[in-house]
Amino acid sequence: MEIFYQYLETISENFFDPKKRVFLGYLFSAFLISFMWLTFVKKEKIKQAVYKIFDKKIFMSKSAKADYILFLLNIIILMFLSPLLISQLAIAHFVFEYLHSQTFLTPLGIDINYMWMIPIFFTFCYFVLDDFTKYVTHALMHKVPLLWEIHKTHHSARTLTPLTIFRTHPIEGVIFVVRSALTQGIVIATFYYVYGGNITFVTILGANLFSFWFHLFGSNLRHSHIRINYWSWLEKIFISPAQHQIHHSIKKEHHNKNFGVAFAFWDYMFGSLYISKSDEDVKFGISETEHKYENNIIYLYLSPLIGIYKLIANYVSSKNLKVKKQKFIFNKQTR
Ligand SMILES: [Zn+2]
Ligand SMILES: [Zn+2]
Repeated sequence: MEIFYQYLETISENFFDPKKRVFLGYLFSAFLISFMWLTFVKKEKIKQAVYKIFDKKIFMSKSAKADYILFLLNIIILMFLSPLLISQLAIAHFVFEYLHSQTFLTPLGIDINYMWMIPIFFTFCYFVLDDFTKYVTHALMHKVPLLWEIHKTHHSARTLTPLTIFRTHPIEGVIFVVRSALTQGIVIATFYYVYGGNITFVTILGANLFSFWFHLFGSNLRHSHIRINYWSWLEKIFISPAQHQIHHSIKKEHHNKNFGVAFAFWDYMFGSLYISKSDEDVKFGISETEHKYENNIIYLYLSPLIGIYKLIANYVSSKNLKVKKQKFIFNKQTR
């Protein structure tokens, strides 16, 4: 029974905790932004704008329903897996111990007058490094065939709603938990070592100051059908909702573009940036033929595992073929 309450608590936390992306306050701000965008910029009538935002065809689509089920099931799976994961504290401890054992870096004697700036600097560094490791992990999920098999689940969505963020395979969930723990551990241990003492994050309603603003300014619109684009110069700094929607596009020219989450300059620096065009039509998914059963829950859980098995089996059989060929050449030469 206790585990059931824990489950319900985790579900409600997602909507009532400002540390979570789908916190009701952020969903409401996303609604306001899209409403203003449609009425002021796109000059649509109020009623028309509201209908468009809450489009039943999107929110009740087969793809969206699969997102909702995955959201509920993944919480159960991750609840069982979480004790197995390396904790952020263990990583912080390990990095701290390592910093103590080396000799090239010594703790800074910081001027007490500037001490008030350190928590803001710490919070900012964490936000930037966290965003960078998200960029790298996301790019790897696309470029490494084994990881792509797992990440395909997210890209199989044909419609985007704020809950599409939860349309992931649990293995991807585990990868991102480890990534987050590593990033936090490294930043916390480095700051603790360099500045000494406990440094805390600057927060608003318990959320990281910068994450709070990022979510308040419509992070949820990335997974939506409301195509909001920024000026092109701004899309080189921050990822706009339209840019992430392009990341989900079926079109070949959009593949492997816009891996960034908050900042676009990682994409700009590493050549994966795609600036959105306001007249561009974007259809979401992987391809017309792939993922025929993309809304079948069992398929969504099993197909990445089958894909990985096939890749490994192909690799092993091609290796065996190579060894056989080499043996054959060797036998021919020694005859
Ligand atoms: Zn992706
Ligand atoms: Zn996405």
